[in-house]
Amino acid sequence: MRLSQLFTKTSKTVPADETSRNAQLLIRAGFIYKEMAGVYAYLPLGLMVLENIKKIVREEMNALGAFELIMTNLQRQELWEKTDRWDDNKVDIWFKSTLHSGAPIGLAWSHEEPITDMMRNYISSYRDLPANVYQFQTKLRNEVRAKSGVMRGREFVMKDLYSYSRNDEEHQKFYDAVTAAYLKVYERIGIGDSTFVTYASGGAFTQFSHEFQTVTDAGEDIIYLNRERKLAVNKEVYEEEVLNQLGLEKEKLEELKASEVGNIFSFGTSKSEELDLTFTDSDGKEKPVVLGSYGIGITRLIGVIAELFADDKGLVWPEAVAPAKVHLIRIGDSENVLKEADELYNLLTDTDIAVIYDDRNARPGEMFADADLIGIPNRVVISEKTIASSSYEWKIRTAEHAEYINKEKLLNLLGISS
Ligand code: ATP
Ligand code: MG
Repeated sequence: MRLSQLFTKTSKTVPADETSRNAQLLIRAGFIYKEMAGVYAYLPLGLMVLENIKKIVREEMNALGAFELIMTNLQRQELWEKTDRWDDNKVDIWFKSTLHSGAPIGLAWSHEEPITDMMRNYISSYRDLPANVYQFQTKLRNEVRAKSGVMRGREFVMKDLYSYSRNDEEHQKFYDAVTAAYLKVYERIGIGDSTFVTYASGGAFTQFSHEFQTVTDAGEDIIYLNRERKLAVNKEVYEEEVLNQLGLEKEKLEELKASEVGNIFSFGTSKSEELDLTFTDSDGKEKPVVLGSYGIGITRLIGVIAELFADDKGLVWPEAVAPAKVHLIRIGDSENVLKEADELYNLLTDTDIAVIYDDRNARPGEMFADADLIGIPNRVVISEKTIASSSYEWKIRTAEHAEYINKEKLLNLLGISS
């Protein structure tokens, strides 16, 4: 991608009402655009991060044997009445509207009800189970407070997965596999070291749900973490009895702020009973399906990553989710420099290495500052000086100093064999 062609610009200012660090940086670096409080558009650079995260999540969901689909944003009132979740006093984040006919509709804040109702079309026998489906979908929630930037949007992208199983045993096996898959996702994204399985309150059916909490001061939750066991409890269930039950000693727990980047939940047969999703088992008996629900906050993750790694110069992306692997800066526009920089750009592009190429002929200071703000993991500079010494200036975003390396070393570092 040539920066001279990219319509977004970096900026030194942010909207006055934007107080969160993640959104401030993402806006300044041109990753997102703020439409209103809690509502952000994803610009080309932001969309690349979003898609990189989705790709990792998609691979892990597919590996679980789940199938991707997309449900609708417009939802029927009657379904949510069956589970007593239509009433604004029961669910206080609903956005609702009305059709011309006068019929009320809900705008999707979750999909448990519609997806489970839909599955009645496809599940009738034990032979139809297990069935696991997931989607990446934009959820709409009328959140009271939207002060955490993209970490709490009124419109945000979630990955939600739903499992339909014959019995508790089959369900539990999948639930455990999802837990492992989620940990793998966070590891691959680059936040594995700060993300912990956390016991949180369950529902009618189970005592606990499991959250995946990433430790960051920007988080809105409080967790109590046993670092050795890589296990935490959410403040909402932080009680003597629970700690005893989980074998956690109070003295070994750290109180930390964290952000919930995922949440998995067993519904047992409660929701299937309410929505009448049953199957005929191999013993000929009709039984309700066992349901699990599993969310990952895709756009929240972008905010969490920004908060975790950014420094005083700007964003710092882990390589797995970065919009590019290399930020190539060209200083000067002599024939030599143009040729050398274009050649490297073409080589990287042909090798499928994503590169942001600063070909704007801007002041070096401005180009360096922008590279730091945008946060691509590796920076390469080509100038008259580097050409004269047959070298490239190479700097890892988080390194103190640049170094000068030859072409062979450069290609080596980028994983290209010359
Ligand atoms: P929270 O407690 O943070 O409000 P939740 O428990 O209501 O979240 P879930 O319904 O479990 O959220 O949604 C699954 C995941 O979606 C959450 O774990 C979180 O990562 C993400 N998420 C939830 N609400 C938001 C939001 N307003 N903005 C961005 N991501 C969100
Ligand atoms: Mg939750």
